[in-house]
Amino acid sequence: MADIRLEGIVKDYGSVRAIHGVSLNIQDGEFVAFVGPSGCGKSTMLRMIAGLEEISGGVLKIGERVVNDVEPRDRDVAMVFQDYALYPHMSVAENIGFGLKMRGLKASEIEPKVREAARILQIEAYLDRKPGQLSGGQRQRVAMGRAIVRKPAVFLFDEPLSNLDAKLRVEMRTQIKRLHAMLKTTTVYVTHDQTEAMTLADRVVVLRGGKIVQQGHPIELYSRP
Ligand code: ADP
Ligand code: ADP
Repeated sequence: MADIRLEGIVKDYGSVRAIHGVSLNIQDGEFVAFVGPSGCGKSTMLRMIAGLEEISGGVLKIGERVVNDVEPRDRDVAMVFQDYALYPHMSVAENIGFGLKMRGLKASEIEPKVREAARILQIEAYLDRKPGQLSGGQRQRVAMGRAIVRKPAVFLFDEPLSNLDAKLRVEMRTQIKRLHAMLKTTTVYVTHDQTEAMTLADRVVVLRGGKIVQQGHPIELYSRP
């Protein structure tokens, strides 16, 4: 569990400033959605929190720790990508347990954790299959399984549902909501889909041109004229 503090965060790509000094406190257990038009900086913000993108200025804290220069795997965050990023040659169980294996856990320690994550996500029946034998929705559950199995302090979602059809999107939205209610993990969720942001988030943060232009509870935000 951890809060996230962004203090004057700046991102420059060469001579182009993509993020213009963003400050934001995300509370422990809060679910925050970043929304806004393409190119507004959502994904850059998320990748900086993940440690996948260098921060050009400002201070980023996760919990008590300044993490500006901390490697992704030492940040206690787990990210779920739009393209699932599963390893095709590994089984579902191996995919879910891979991060734990890399961290040096023994098979006997990994197995119950993988089973528990699979149970929560209702994919226990698929543990021996390869990702290629799964539907898009099932693959996204595996990707989430890989994130929750580590019990990270922070979940980061980068447009996780945009490759799914409408029916599956609704189903997975429910799944993500259930997961957050159950685990209460601090979550940052990037989407261009307002319905998704509204149904999931405690707070919606609207970005435009690399700045926060609006934020609030979804009801408060979207009921304004
Ligand atoms: P969003 O996720 O909201 O679509 P991005 O964070 O991807 O926005 O992009 C924000 C801005 O930064 C855009 O102007 C984009 O062109 C620029 N940008 C993103 N990634 C790079 C990169 N690797 N190199 C140069 N410019 C980039
Ligand atoms: P772990 O669970 O130990 O983080 P992963 O296999 O999930 O291991 O990922 C290893 C690293 O590669 C992580 O830092 C992750 O952020 C990065 N990564 C994984 N998939 C992608 C992707 N599709 N795009 C960019 N980076 C990725």
